Amino acid sequence: MGARQVAITIDDGFCAECAQAYADLAQATGIHITFNPNGCYGEIWTPLATILRPLIEAGQVQIGNHTFNHWWLTDLSDSQVTAQLEQNEEWIEQTYGITARPWWRPPYGAHDERTDELAASIGYTNVLMWNGSYGDSTAIRPTEILALARQYLNPGVVMLGHANYPEVTGIFPQLAELVTARSLHPVTLDEMFGTSRSTGRST
Ligand SMILES: [Zn+2]
Repeated sequence: MGARQVAITIDDGFCAECAQAYADLAQATGIHITFNPNGCYGEIWTPLATILRPLIEAGQVQIGNHTFNHWWLTDLSDSQVTAQLEQNEEWIEQTYGITARPWWRPPYGAHDERTDELAASIGYTNVLMWNGSYGDSTAIRPTEILALARQYLNPGVVMLGHANYPEVTGIFPQLAELVTARSLHPVTLDEMFGTSRSTGRST
C-alpha cells in the first residue's frame, strides 16, 4: 500500500442515526473504515449488516472487538474479561460473518498486562490503541471535532471516533475535504498492519 495511510476507527455506537450515517457513508463513498461496535448496541448495529456485510467481504470495512458491554476491563475478573471479548466475538461472527481477531480495543483504553494476556489467550493478540482522536466520545461541537481532525489527521495515524453523538455526521463533507487536501489514504487495520480476516492472526 502507498504511504500517507490513516486508519479511521469508529467505536461504540449507541446513537442509531450516527451508526446509520457511518454505514451509509462507507457504502456511498467507498471509504475504508474499521468499526468497533459493542454488541450491547446490537439493536442498532445488527440491522446495518445488510449494508456492511458486502463491504466487509470486499475488505473495505473491518470489525474490531470492543467488548460486549463496554465495561472497565481492569476492574473485572479474569473470566469476566474473556467473557466480554468472547460474547462480542460471537455476536460479530453471527452478524457480520467474520472474526474480529486479532484486534481488540479496550473500552476507555483501559488495559494492563493481565487483560492483554487474557485477550491474547483467546486470539486477541493486537491491542488497538490510537494516536489521534475526534474527541467525540462525549458530545462536543462540530467546530471542535474539526479542529481535532486538523490536528491529528496525518499519515500513520490511527484515528479514534465514535458513533455516539450526531454532531460528527454533519461534518462528513469537511472531514472528507481534509482527507483529500492532505492526500491521505484511509485504510483498514488489516491494510495498515498486515493482519488478515482469513486467519484472524498477524501475518
Ligand atoms: Zn468505546
